[in-house]
Amino acid sequence: MAGLCEGGNEPSGSLKAICKWTLLFQLPPCEVRSVIKFLNVQGIAPIEIDRQLCQVYGPNVMSKQMGRSDVGPRLAGIYAKVGLPAAGQSGAHFYRYVDDTLVVWPHGEEKLQEFQEYLNNIHPNIQFTKEVEKDGCFPFLDILISRKSDGTLGHRVYRKPTHTDLYLNGHSHHHPAQKRTVLSTLLHRARGISDKESLPSEICHLRKTFLQNNFGNREIGLALRRAFSDKPPAEEQEETKGMAYIPFYGPISGKISRMLRKHGIKTIHKPPTKIQNLLRPVKDDLGLRTPGVYRIPCECGKCYIGQTGRTIMERCKEHQRSIRLYYPDKSAVAQHSLETGHKIDFSATTILDKTSGYWDLVIKEAIEIQLDGNNFNRDGVYS
Ligand SMILES: [Zn+2]
Repeated sequence: MAGLCEGGNEPSGSLKAICKWTLLFQLPPCEVRSVIKFLNVQGIAPIEIDRQLCQVYGPNVMSKQMGRSDVGPRLAGIYAKVGLPAAGQSGAHFYRYVDDTLVVWPHGEEKLQEFQEYLNNIHPNIQFTKEVEKDGCFPFLDILISRKSDGTLGHRVYRKPTHTDLYLNGHSHHHPAQKRTVLSTLLHRARGISDKESLPSEICHLRKTFLQNNFGNREIGLALRRAFSDKPPAEEQEETKGMAYIPFYGPISGKISRMLRKHGIKTIHKPPTKIQNLLRPVKDDLGLRTPGVYRIPCECGKCYIGQTGRTIMERCKEHQRSIRLYYPDKSAVAQHSLETGHKIDFSATTILDKTSGYWDLVIKEAIEIQLDGNNFNRDGVYS
Protein backbone atom coordinates (compact mmCIF):
# COMPACT_ATOMS: atom_id res chain seq x y z
CA MET A 1 0.00 0.00 0.00
CA ALA A 2 2.69 2.47 1.07
CA GLY A 3 4.68 1.70 -2.05
CA LEU A 4 1.67 2.28 -4.22
CA CYS A 5 0.94 5.67 -2.68
CA GLU A 6 4.54 6.74 -3.21
CA GLY A 7 4.26 5.74 -6.84
CA GLY A 8 0.97 7.58 -7.08
CA ASN A 9 2.60 10.89 -6.20
CA GLU A 10 5.11 10.74 -8.98
CA PRO A 11 4.44 12.87 -12.02
CA SER A 12 3.11 10.71 -14.76
CA GLY A 13 3.23 13.06 -17.72
CA SER A 14 5.14 10.55 -19.80
CA LEU A 15 3.09 7.54 -18.68
CA LYS A 16 1.38 5.63 -21.45
CA ALA A 17 -0.50 2.93 -19.59
CA ILE A 18 -1.55 1.68 -16.18
CA CYS A 19 -2.44 -1.95 -16.25
CA LYS A 20 -2.80 -5.04 -14.09
CA TRP A 21 -1.38 -8.46 -14.70
CA THR A 22 -2.90 -11.46 -13.06
CA LEU A 23 -0.76 -14.53 -12.77
CA LEU A 24 -2.50 -17.72 -13.85
CA PHE A 25 -0.59 -20.68 -12.62
CA GLN A 26 -1.66 -24.25 -13.06
CA LEU A 27 0.39 -26.92 -11.36
CA PRO A 28 0.06 -29.94 -13.61
CA PRO A 29 -0.95 -33.01 -11.55
CA CYS A 30 1.62 -35.04 -13.53
CA GLU A 31 4.36 -32.88 -12.01
CA VAL A 32 3.32 -33.70 -8.43
CA ARG A 33 2.95 -37.33 -9.37
CA SER A 34 6.42 -37.54 -10.85
CA VAL A 35 7.91 -35.86 -7.76
CA ILE A 36 6.17 -38.45 -5.55
CA LYS A 37 7.39 -41.28 -7.73
CA PHE A 38 10.95 -39.92 -7.67
CA LEU A 39 10.97 -39.63 -3.86
CA ASN A 40 9.32 -43.02 -3.51
CA VAL A 41 12.01 -44.70 -5.62
CA GLN A 42 14.59 -43.18 -3.30
CA GLY A 43 12.99 -45.11 -0.43
CA ILE A 44 11.68 -42.03 1.38
CA ALA A 45 8.80 -42.77 3.77
CA PRO A 46 5.34 -41.55 2.65
CA ILE A 47 5.03 -39.25 5.68
CA GLU A 48 8.33 -37.59 4.72
CA ILE A 49 7.19 -37.28 1.07
CA ASP A 50 4.06 -35.51 2.25
CA ARG A 51 6.09 -33.17 4.46
CA GLN A 52 8.45 -32.27 1.63
CA LEU A 53 5.61 -31.72 -0.86
CA CYS A 54 3.81 -29.42 1.58
CA GLN A 55 7.01 -27.49 2.11
CA VAL A 56 7.39 -26.82 -1.60
CA TYR A 57 3.81 -26.64 -2.89
CA GLY A 58 1.90 -25.59 0.24
CA PRO A 59 -0.21 -27.46 2.80
CA ASN A 60 -3.09 -28.14 0.40
CA VAL A 61 -1.00 -29.81 -2.26
CA MET A 62 -2.59 -33.21 -1.71
CA SER A 63 -6.15 -31.98 -1.42
CA LYS A 64 -8.53 -32.29 -4.33
CA GLN A 65 -9.32 -28.59 -4.24
CA MET A 66 -5.74 -27.73 -5.06
CA GLY A 67 -6.03 -25.06 -7.71
CA ARG A 68 -4.07 -22.20 -9.02
CA SER A 69 -5.17 -19.96 -6.14
CA ASP A 70 -3.26 -22.09 -3.62
CA VAL A 71 -0.10 -22.46 -5.58
CA GLY A 72 -0.07 -19.19 -7.48
CA PRO A 73 0.63 -16.92 -4.51
CA ARG A 74 3.64 -18.97 -3.44
CA LEU A 75 5.18 -18.91 -6.87
CA ALA A 76 4.11 -15.40 -7.81
CA GLY A 77 6.83 -13.95 -5.60
CA ILE A 78 9.54 -16.19 -6.98
CA TYR A 79 8.43 -15.60 -10.54
CA ALA A 80 8.15 -11.86 -10.12
CA LYS A 81 11.75 -11.83 -8.92
CA VAL A 82 12.87 -13.53 -12.13
CA GLY A 83 11.07 -11.55 -14.82
CA LEU A 84 10.00 -8.22 -13.45
CA PRO A 85 13.22 -6.52 -12.23
CA ALA A 86 14.67 -6.51 -15.72
CA ALA A 87 11.72 -4.48 -16.92
CA GLY A 88 11.79 -2.37 -13.73
CA GLN A 89 15.17 -0.96 -14.75
CA SER A 90 13.59 0.51 -17.84
CA GLY A 91 11.53 2.99 -15.84
CA ALA A 92 8.38 0.93 -15.42
CA HIS A 93 6.80 0.59 -11.96
CA PHE A 94 5.62 -2.70 -10.53
CA TYR A 95 3.57 -3.11 -7.38
CA ARG A 96 2.75 -6.71 -6.65
CA TYR A 97 0.05 -8.02 -4.34
CA VAL A 98 0.00 -11.84 -4.21
CA ASP A 99 -0.69 -12.82 -7.84
CA ASP A 100 -1.80 -9.41 -9.08
CA THR A 101 0.77 -6.94 -10.32
CA LEU A 102 0.03 -3.28 -10.96
CA VAL A 103 2.21 -1.94 -13.74
CA VAL A 104 2.86 1.65 -14.74
CA TRP A 105 4.40 1.35 -18.18
CA PRO A 106 6.10 4.29 -19.92
CA HIS A 107 7.15 2.63 -23.21
CA GLY A 108 3.93 2.38 -25.18
CA GLU A 109 1.40 -0.30 -26.05
CA GLU A 110 3.63 -2.18 -28.49
CA LYS A 111 6.50 -2.70 -26.06
CA LEU A 112 4.03 -3.69 -23.33
CA GLN A 113 2.64 -6.40 -25.56
CA GLU A 114 6.16 -7.58 -26.36
CA PHE A 115 7.09 -7.75 -22.70
CA GLN A 116 3.97 -9.70 -21.86
CA GLU A 117 4.74 -12.18 -24.61
CA TYR A 118 8.26 -12.56 -23.20
CA LEU A 119 6.84 -13.34 -19.74
CA ASN A 120 4.30 -15.78 -21.10
CA ASN A 121 6.94 -17.65 -23.10
CA ILE A 122 9.05 -18.58 -20.08
CA HIS A 123 6.87 -21.53 -19.04
CA PRO A 124 3.66 -22.84 -20.65
CA ASN A 125 1.97 -23.19 -17.25
CA ILE A 126 2.79 -19.69 -16.07
CA GLN A 127 0.70 -17.16 -17.94
CA PHE A 128 -0.25 -13.56 -17.24
CA THR A 129 -3.52 -11.91 -18.25
CA LYS A 130 -3.64 -8.17 -18.72
CA GLU A 131 -6.22 -5.48 -17.92
CA VAL A 132 -5.61 -1.91 -19.09
CA GLU A 133 -6.93 1.43 -17.72
CA LYS A 134 -10.21 2.82 -19.02
CA ASP A 135 -10.89 6.56 -19.28
CA GLY A 136 -7.82 7.37 -17.19
CA CYS A 137 -9.06 5.26 -14.24
CA PHE A 138 -7.90 1.89 -13.07
CA PRO A 139 -9.17 -0.17 -10.12
CA PHE A 140 -6.59 -2.27 -8.27
CA LEU A 141 -7.78 -4.20 -5.18
CA ASP A 142 -9.97 -1.63 -3.38
CA ILE A 143 -8.14 1.40 -4.74
CA LEU A 144 -9.23 3.42 -7.75
CA ILE A 145 -6.20 5.00 -9.38
CA SER A 146 -6.98 7.94 -11.64
CA ARG A 147 -4.99 10.23 -13.87
CA LYS A 148 -5.29 13.87 -12.84
CA SER A 149 -5.17 16.90 -15.14
CA ASP A 150 -1.70 17.92 -13.87
CA GLY A 151 -0.28 14.53 -14.84
CA THR A 152 -0.04 13.04 -11.32
CA LEU A 153 -1.95 9.99 -10.14
CA GLY A 154 -4.78 10.22 -7.64
CA HIS A 155 -6.13 7.42 -5.50
CA ARG A 156 -9.39 6.82 -3.71
CA VAL A 157 -11.56 3.99 -2.37
CA TYR A 158 -12.94 1.73 -5.09
CA ARG A 159 -16.31 -0.01 -4.84
CA LYS A 160 -17.64 -2.33 -7.48
CA PRO A 161 -20.71 -1.01 -9.32
CA THR A 162 -22.73 -3.80 -7.69
CA HIS A 163 -21.65 -2.85 -4.13
CA THR A 164 -24.72 -2.52 -1.88
CA ASP A 165 -23.26 -0.49 1.01
CA LEU A 166 -24.95 -2.87 3.44
CA TYR A 167 -23.08 -3.48 6.69
CA LEU A 168 -23.96 -4.68 10.19
CA ASN A 169 -27.16 -2.83 11.06
CA GLY A 170 -27.00 -0.26 13.87
CA HIS A 171 -30.18 -1.72 15.41
CA SER A 172 -28.99 -5.31 15.34
CA HIS A 173 -28.50 -7.25 18.54
CA HIS A 174 -24.71 -7.03 18.81
CA HIS A 175 -22.39 -5.68 21.45
CA PRO A 176 -21.76 -1.94 20.89
CA ALA A 177 -18.02 -2.64 20.48
CA GLN A 178 -18.74 -4.88 17.49
CA LYS A 179 -20.90 -2.19 15.87
CA ARG A 180 -18.25 0.45 16.52
CA THR A 181 -15.75 -1.72 14.66
CA VAL A 182 -17.81 -1.39 11.45
CA LEU A 183 -17.53 2.39 11.58
CA SER A 184 -13.88 2.49 12.56
CA THR A 185 -12.79 -0.06 9.93
CA LEU A 186 -14.43 1.84 7.06
CA LEU A 187 -13.12 5.19 8.28
CA HIS A 188 -9.65 3.74 8.69
CA ARG A 189 -9.76 2.47 5.11
CA ALA A 190 -10.98 5.84 3.82
CA ARG A 191 -8.12 7.56 5.58
CA GLY A 192 -5.53 5.10 4.35
CA ILE A 193 -6.58 4.95 0.70
CA SER A 194 -8.04 8.34 -0.25
CA ASP A 195 -5.85 11.22 -1.35
CA LYS A 196 -6.47 14.75 -0.03
CA GLU A 197 -8.93 15.69 -2.77
CA SER A 198 -11.12 12.63 -2.51
CA LEU A 199 -11.17 12.22 1.29
CA PRO A 200 -14.04 14.71 1.98
CA SER A 201 -16.34 13.05 -0.57
CA GLU A 202 -15.45 9.60 0.79
CA ILE A 203 -16.28 10.69 4.35
CA CYS A 204 -19.53 12.19 3.08
CA HIS A 205 -20.39 8.89 1.37
CA LEU A 206 -19.58 6.92 4.53
CA ARG A 207 -21.70 9.23 6.70
CA LYS A 208 -24.68 8.63 4.38
CA THR A 209 -24.00 4.87 4.38
CA PHE A 210 -23.83 4.72 8.20
CA LEU A 211 -27.16 6.57 8.48
CA GLN A 212 -28.72 4.16 5.97
CA ASN A 213 -27.49 1.29 8.12
CA ASN A 214 -29.28 2.80 11.15
CA PHE A 215 -26.29 4.18 13.03
CA GLY A 216 -27.01 7.32 15.06
CA ASN A 217 -25.44 10.73 14.45
CA ARG A 218 -23.79 10.57 17.87
CA GLU A 219 -22.09 7.23 17.18
CA ILE A 220 -20.92 8.46 13.79
CA GLY A 221 -19.51 11.67 15.28
CA LEU A 222 -17.62 9.73 17.95
CA ALA A 223 -16.21 7.31 15.38
CA LEU A 224 -15.05 10.21 13.18
CA ARG A 225 -13.33 11.89 16.09
CA ARG A 226 -11.58 8.66 17.05
CA ALA A 227 -10.51 7.94 13.47
CA PHE A 228 -9.04 11.37 12.84
CA SER A 229 -7.47 12.11 16.23
CA ASP A 230 -3.74 11.61 16.23
CA LYS A 231 -3.70 10.56 19.88
CA PRO A 232 -2.72 6.90 20.26
CA PRO A 233 -5.49 4.84 21.89
CA ALA A 234 -5.10 4.56 25.67
CA GLU A 235 -3.48 1.30 26.61
CA GLU A 236 -5.20 -0.86 29.18
CA GLN A 237 -3.29 -0.77 32.40
CA GLU A 238 -5.39 -3.33 34.25
CA GLU A 239 -3.90 -6.71 34.73
CA THR A 240 -6.16 -9.50 33.61
CA LYS A 241 -6.28 -12.86 35.34
CA GLY A 242 -8.29 -14.48 32.59
CA MET A 243 -10.86 -14.14 29.84
CA ALA A 244 -14.57 -14.97 29.81
CA TYR A 245 -16.39 -15.60 26.54
CA ILE A 246 -20.11 -15.03 27.05
CA PRO A 247 -22.97 -14.59 24.58
CA PHE A 248 -24.31 -11.04 24.29
CA TYR A 249 -27.77 -10.57 25.84
CA GLY A 250 -28.17 -6.79 26.01
CA PRO A 251 -27.67 -4.68 29.18
CA ILE A 252 -27.35 -7.72 31.46
CA SER A 253 -24.12 -8.67 29.65
CA GLY A 254 -22.67 -5.26 30.51
CA LYS A 255 -23.46 -5.81 34.20
CA ILE A 256 -21.83 -9.22 34.18
CA SER A 257 -18.71 -7.93 32.46
CA ARG A 258 -18.39 -5.07 35.01
CA MET A 259 -18.64 -7.57 37.87
CA LEU A 260 -16.01 -9.80 36.27
CA ARG A 261 -13.71 -6.85 35.62
CA LYS A 262 -13.61 -6.12 39.35
CA HIS A 263 -12.06 -9.55 39.75
CA GLY A 264 -9.59 -9.01 36.94
CA ILE A 265 -11.45 -11.02 34.32
CA LYS A 266 -11.84 -9.56 30.84
CA THR A 267 -15.06 -10.31 28.96
CA ILE A 268 -15.44 -11.02 25.27
CA HIS A 269 -19.02 -10.94 23.99
CA LYS A 270 -19.86 -13.48 21.33
CA PRO A 271 -22.59 -12.67 18.80
CA PRO A 272 -25.75 -14.64 19.60
CA THR A 273 -26.55 -17.88 17.77
CA LYS A 274 -28.20 -17.30 14.40
CA ILE A 275 -31.06 -19.34 12.99
CA GLN A 276 -28.70 -20.53 10.27
CA ASN A 277 -26.51 -22.21 12.92
CA LEU A 278 -29.49 -24.15 14.30
CA LEU A 279 -30.65 -25.56 10.96
CA ARG A 280 -29.35 -28.75 9.43
CA PRO A 281 -27.02 -28.29 6.46
CA VAL A 282 -29.02 -28.61 3.25
CA LYS A 283 -26.43 -30.69 1.42
CA ASP A 284 -27.03 -34.40 1.41
CA ASP A 285 -24.45 -36.35 3.40
CA LEU A 286 -22.97 -39.15 1.31
CA GLY A 287 -21.94 -41.08 4.41
CA LEU A 288 -19.54 -43.88 3.53
CA ARG A 289 -20.35 -43.66 -0.16
CA THR A 290 -17.12 -41.82 -0.89
CA PRO A 291 -13.48 -42.74 -1.52
CA GLY A 292 -11.02 -41.89 1.23
CA VAL A 293 -9.14 -42.98 4.31
CA TYR A 294 -11.23 -44.75 6.94
CA ARG A 295 -11.00 -46.26 10.43
CA ILE A 296 -12.75 -49.44 11.57
CA PRO A 297 -12.71 -50.07 15.34
CA CYS A 298 -12.53 -53.48 17.01
CA GLU A 299 -14.07 -54.41 20.38
CA CYS A 300 -10.57 -54.74 21.88
CA GLY A 301 -9.93 -51.01 21.44
CA LYS A 302 -7.58 -51.38 18.49
CA CYS A 303 -8.58 -50.31 15.02
CA TYR A 304 -7.79 -50.74 11.36
CA ILE A 305 -6.93 -47.79 9.16
CA GLY A 306 -7.37 -48.29 5.44
CA GLN A 307 -7.87 -46.42 2.21
CA THR A 308 -9.79 -47.02 -0.95
CA GLY A 309 -10.27 -45.30 -4.28
CA ARG A 310 -13.73 -46.85 -4.60
CA THR A 311 -16.30 -46.17 -1.89
CA ILE A 312 -15.51 -46.90 1.75
CA MET A 313 -18.84 -48.76 1.99
CA GLU A 314 -17.80 -51.20 -0.74
CA ARG A 315 -14.43 -51.80 0.90
CA CYS A 316 -16.09 -52.49 4.29
CA LYS A 317 -18.34 -55.07 2.65
CA GLU A 318 -15.21 -56.76 1.25
CA HIS A 319 -13.64 -56.89 4.72
CA GLN A 320 -16.86 -58.46 6.06
CA ARG A 321 -16.88 -60.99 3.22
CA SER A 322 -13.23 -61.90 3.93
CA ILE A 323 -14.14 -62.65 7.55
CA ARG A 324 -17.19 -64.67 6.53
CA LEU A 325 -15.35 -66.71 3.90
CA TYR A 326 -12.20 -67.08 6.01
CA TYR A 327 -9.73 -65.15 3.85
CA PRO A 328 -7.15 -63.73 6.31
CA ASP A 329 -4.72 -63.01 3.46
CA LYS A 330 -7.14 -60.70 1.68
CA SER A 331 -7.77 -58.34 4.58
CA ALA A 332 -5.93 -57.32 7.75
CA VAL A 333 -9.32 -56.84 9.39
CA ALA A 334 -10.26 -60.42 8.62
CA GLN A 335 -6.86 -61.65 9.84
CA HIS A 336 -7.27 -59.87 13.20
CA SER A 337 -10.84 -61.05 13.66
CA LEU A 338 -10.10 -64.64 12.66
CA GLU A 339 -6.92 -64.93 14.75
CA THR A 340 -8.31 -63.37 17.93
CA GLY A 341 -12.04 -64.03 17.65
CA HIS A 342 -12.74 -60.32 18.26
CA LYS A 343 -15.88 -58.69 16.94
CA ILE A 344 -15.20 -55.87 14.47
CA ASP A 345 -17.60 -52.95 14.82
CA PHE A 346 -18.25 -52.10 11.16
CA SER A 347 -21.19 -49.86 12.09
CA ALA A 348 -18.74 -47.48 13.83
CA THR A 349 -16.58 -46.97 10.73
CA THR A 350 -15.48 -43.36 10.43
CA ILE A 351 -14.06 -41.35 7.53
CA LEU A 352 -10.69 -39.79 8.37
CA ASP A 353 -10.21 -38.02 5.08
CA LYS A 354 -12.28 -37.75 1.93
CA THR A 355 -9.91 -37.89 -0.97
CA SER A 356 -9.23 -39.78 -4.16
CA GLY A 357 -6.15 -40.39 -6.26
CA TYR A 358 -3.76 -43.21 -5.54
CA TRP A 359 -0.83 -41.32 -4.03
CA ASP A 360 -3.02 -38.97 -2.00
CA LEU A 361 -4.66 -42.00 -0.43
CA VAL A 362 -1.42 -43.86 0.20
CA ILE A 363 0.25 -40.89 1.86
CA LYS A 364 -2.72 -39.86 3.94
CA GLU A 365 -3.29 -43.42 5.09
CA ALA A 366 0.37 -43.69 6.12
CA ILE A 367 0.06 -40.47 8.12
CA GLU A 368 -3.09 -41.65 9.88
CA ILE A 369 -1.48 -45.01 10.73
CA GLN A 370 1.52 -43.17 12.17
CA LEU A 371 -0.71 -40.82 14.20
CA ASP A 372 -2.97 -43.51 15.59
CA GLY A 373 -0.41 -45.89 17.03
CA ASN A 374 -3.00 -48.41 18.29
CA ASN A 375 -3.97 -50.32 15.20
CA PHE A 376 -3.64 -53.80 13.79
CA ASN A 377 -2.50 -52.76 10.31
CA ARG A 378 0.07 -55.09 8.86
CA ASP A 379 3.61 -53.65 8.98
CA GLY A 380 4.86 -52.13 5.77
CA VAL A 381 1.53 -52.58 4.04
CA TYR A 382 -0.10 -49.32 3.12
CA SER A 383 -2.83 -50.45 0.80
ZN1 LIG B 1 -9.47 -56.70 18.34
